[in-house]
Amino acid sequence: MFTISNGIILKGQDLVPSRENIVVDEGKIIEIKKDAREGKIIDVGGAIVCPSFIDGHVHIGDSIIKDEGYSLTLSEMVKPPEGVKHKALANASDDELIEAMKQSMWDMVNSGTTHFIDYREGGIKGIKLLNEASRDIPIRPIILGRDDSFYGDDPDLSKVKSAIRKILKVADGIAPSGFGEITSDVAKMITEECSRQGKISSIHVAESESNQIESLNNDKVTEIGKGVETNFDQLVHLTNPKSNDLELVTNSNQNVVVCPRANATLNVGVVPLNKMLDLGIKPLLGTDNVMLNSPNMFRELEFTLKIMSVYYKSYINPKDLVKMATTNICGFKINNIVKKSVILEDNFAEFNVLKSFSKNPYINICNRVETKNILYTINKIFSI
Ligand SMILES: [Zn+2]
Repeated sequence: MFTISNGIILKGQDLVPSRENIVVDEGKIIEIKKDAREGKIIDVGGAIVCPSFIDGHVHIGDSIIKDEGYSLTLSEMVKPPEGVKHKALANASDDELIEAMKQSMWDMVNSGTTHFIDYREGGIKGIKLLNEASRDIPIRPIILGRDDSFYGDDPDLSKVKSAIRKILKVADGIAPSGFGEITSDVAKMITEECSRQGKISSIHVAESESNQIESLNNDKVTEIGKGVETNFDQLVHLTNPKSNDLELVTNSNQNVVVCPRANATLNVGVVPLNKMLDLGIKPLLGTDNVMLNSPNMFRELEFTLKIMSVYYKSYINPKDLVKMATTNICGFKINNIVKKSVILEDNFAEFNVLKSFSKNPYINICNRVETKNILYTINKIFSI
């Protein structure tokens, strides 16, 4: 048991700042009160106590080819099966993959991330490799698998069905790459089976303008429209929405993930995050492919804060941004699987204690705190 004393706690789903002590016992927050003092007392001298990060979208497998293929197009880099990453993944040994994934998970842990949602390539074997790699690391991967049988214009639906069932036995859900690679029948089979089993379905949509145009030309509906229609739990990117795409998503209440640094690296646009927030969408923030970006949420937060200001010439609220990296997961179906907690009594203790440089805790986190300024990371796996 220990007490974090003299910290500014960002409490609850809305991250309300409050100068109180926080008592943790066996991985749970048992008390939050001004004068609480139990067990070992850790005076953090006015530091910020913020929920630990959830990285909403990662491809950890491509940790083996960091920075390779820089300046190639989106499809040249990541489109299955010919993209740079898929060729590299096909040629890597299991040991190389495990080692590279371990390194990235330690990078995440060291920069305050306790959960990440991963698009895992390589079918059942790929899922098992990530489970093995994460075994001794204090981080919770939420693994979304896929299978090669999903792809093509005329897939064998009985093979797809059987692959979906096998994957869901070992994974938290399923994430095919995008609508350009699968038919709508396959998409529906994935979302229906995930929903039936209480698992997560997720897909990339509208990452590039050309994805959207291709979708409109072929099927008269945008990728976002397809994502809403087929009812995926989680839509990733939405960088290039058309006409009423964002309104559709707002009404569907699907979980959205945006990845501004990955979009910038791949030269596909700047996500209209300000419009999303105005509409009431509460996205998560993701670092996306480890080949493109470090899986470090502080870097993502600062980049996002500033690119929005430069590109749209309007400010986004830094508090909304910190929520995208922490508590926005709550309120969505997928939080039942992730079990990510906000800072409240009786919840799991999953928070970072961060050095405070300024009076505004939210700008402080986005604009000043670096990995080296994490004083403690507390999560239910590790305790002081
Ligand atoms: Zn992705």
